[in-house]
This record gives sequence, structure tokens and C-alpha cells, in this order.
Amino acid sequence: MKVDGNRQFALLEKIGFVRVSGSPEELKAANILMDEIKAMGLEPHLEPFEVSYGKVNVAKFAVTEPYQKEYTVTGYRLAGNTAKGGEEHELLYLEGYDDVMLQKAKGKFVIVNGRLTVDDYKKVYAAGIAGFMTMGGTVIDEVEKTDLDTRTMRDSMREVGTVPAFHIRMTDALEILKSGATKVKIELDTEPTTHTSNNVVVTIPGTEKPEEIVDVGAHYDSVEFSSGVWDNGAGSVTIMEMLRHFVENPPKRTMRFIWFGSEELGLLGSHAYVKQYADEMSKHIFMINVDVGGSVLGGNMAGCTSDESLCKYIEYLAKEVGYSTSVRQGIMSSDSVPFANAGVPALNFGRGGRGPGMGFMHTRYDMISLISPEALQVTTEFAVYAADRLVNAVVFPVPRQLPQNIVEQVDKYLNKKPEKKA
Ligand SMILES: [Zn+2]
Repeated sequence: MKVDGNRQFALLEKIGFVRVSGSPEELKAANILMDEIKAMGLEPHLEPFEVSYGKVNVAKFAVTEPYQKEYTVTGYRLAGNTAKGGEEHELLYLEGYDDVMLQKAKGKFVIVNGRLTVDDYKKVYAAGIAGFMTMGGTVIDEVEKTDLDTRTMRDSMREVGTVPAFHIRMTDALEILKSGATKVKIELDTEPTTHTSNNVVVTIPGTEKPEEIVDVGAHYDSVEFSSGVWDNGAGSVTIMEMLRHFVENPPKRTMRFIWFGSEELGLLGSHAYVKQYADEMSKHIFMINVDVGGSVLGGNMAGCTSDESLCKYIEYLAKEVGYSTSVRQGIMSSDSVPFANAGVPALNFGRGGRGPGMGFMHTRYDMISLISPEALQVTTEFAVYAADRLVNAVVFPVPRQLPQNIVEQVDKYLNKKPEKKA
């Protein structure tokens, strides 16, 4: 079988619609993937998992002094609620987290400068803020051409304590601050919810070492507003093409192909999968993950969530077949992280822009017009080649043991507290 970029592209067009965690569209995409797999004569299945989430019923924000104007905002899911009917507070632009700013913040509603880390949130929460607002987009955005996303207050923040939280366009924040706004009225009503998301799973049993399992994964969900073709319809169609290869060329080791749901909410599909198979995780010796691909402008990338030897191995293979790629050791913000957390080393493939302006992840501009069959094919051919070498190796070349720097990166990424040494 030959890798066929046109076939990949055709499937990408079929799943290239907004498919947010737990939505009917996410399920529809799962079923399209299921049909594609069934057409190969295999029996895939859905593995549902519950997602704890939140929904926002009311999110209102208005400047009340020295002028009156209501602004379009989104409210953070699972943030703190205001009193019904809203609350009025003094406004402060919190340009930093130094003691001077923090002393001024007491009792005020603050617009924060840039991203709010958990550590910064601890400081402003302790300072006694009445609520906060983050800014999204850029100062040159046009309203009709951009979207304002809805954010979620992460558990690591909720553990500190909750306050009402909002997200606003940067252009509006600029107007508010330039206009010298001093008082605002805020109203937020959010409630916890749960919904169901699905992983799509199919297994090819190994011919010689069926007890050794290599997982091959890609997430198929998207964020709101985005058709998610680059991120990560491309990875979804890449592993579909890999599956075709291994159906025709049965591997020595067992291969489990998984299309993960809800990656965009925090790798939830892969976390659910690793949890579901916790008892047999010791048999899972390796993971291959594909996240982003197919971009015409851009270059191939390989990320080794393993010891350095895999990086060298991939560099050698790439040279052998004439595949241009960057190779780096480390974790990726993707579904290989829960595997690494369970001790499973991983190889990540992708293709993306190296400079700003080439692609627009997580926006309406993640468009199929930026993707080509040829660009999909080039990454896939190498992924098939490398995977074929690995799963058919006489002795599996990558040790199932992660070096200390990877363990630390995973712990940091998952916000795990460092274990106390005895
Ligand atoms: Zn992604």
C-alpha cells in the first residue's frame, strides 16, 4: 500500500467542521472515523468517558463611571458567581504583580496584564480582589473577523478559591482603560455540568509479540469556532493512513489506534484511556502521537518524549530516507503526556509553521485552504516508515523508562506537587 495524501485530504474535508468536546458534532466526527475503519474490515468501538465541565448562564460586564457602556465579554466556566442582578466595583488595571499593585487591588475588580498564572492568581486572590478579567486577541483585531473564546477556571485555580472571572477583547480593554473607567458592574452565573465524550479505538493484534502494545494516537476534537483541520484533523487522517498500512502489513507487536476526544479541554481523552487501561499499562511499551499536520507553509517536526537515543534514531532514519525534520527531546502539549505520566515513552509527529502568520491554531482561521495533500503525505510517509521499523524491531529499541528531565517536565505540565524526599 502507498500512503495517499489525496485520500487523507478527502477524509480531512469530511471531518473539517467544529467538533467541540461532548457536542453532537464531536460524536458525528467519531462516527465518520468509525465508518472509515469499518470499511477496512475492522471492528472499532467507542470508549465513552464523562467530562466534568461548566456552563455559563449569564456573563455581563459594563462600565458605569465615568461613562456607561456594556461590553461583550465571556465568563469563565466554574468561576465564582456574583450576587444575582450583579455587583458594582471599582476598576483597576493590574499591570503587574508587585506589592504596589497588589496593595491597590484590595476589593477591586481588576483587568490583568497578559496571562494569569496560578502563582499570580494566588497573589491577587490573597490581595482580596472582587474579580478579574483577562484579554484575548490582539490590539488590531476587527470584531467581525475574530471570535472571543469562553475560558474555564482550572482546578489549580479553583483550589485557591474562586472569584468572578471574565474574558474581553483586547481592543475593548484598551478603550476602557484609555477612557479612564473607574467603576464597573459585573454579573456572572455559572454552574457545573457533565457531558460524554468518546475515544475511537481499534486494535491490530501482533503476529509475534502480541503482549507488547504500541499505541498510536491523535485527537479529533476541535476548539469552538475552529474547524480544526490543522489541529488536529490532520493528525486524525494521518493515523488513519498508518492504520491502513498496518492492516495490509500486520505488525509483530500489537498496535492500538486511538482517536482521542476532548484533548482541547486538557488531554481528557488520553487521560481517560490511560486510566481505563491502568492495569495493563505495563504492556504498553511505546506511544506514537500525531498532533498538527498538513500545513503547506511549515516544516516537519518530531518530538521525543523519551531518552536522547530516540532523537538520534529518528535523525538517522530521516537522513536515510531524505526526510527533512526538526527533532527535539521533550514533552509536547498533547496526548502523549498522560502516557509519559504512566511511564510510556512517546514519539510525536507534526507539521507546522515556524513563524507567526503561517497558521492560526484554535481560531476560525485554521482553514483547509492552508493544507495540502502533498504536505499531509510527506509527514505520513515518514511516520509509517518509522512506526514500521519500531513495531517490527527484534528487540524494541526504546527503553520503557523515562529520563529524569522528562519526568520533571511531565510533573510540571500536570501541575503535580513535587514529592517530598524521605
Ligand atoms: Zn492539537
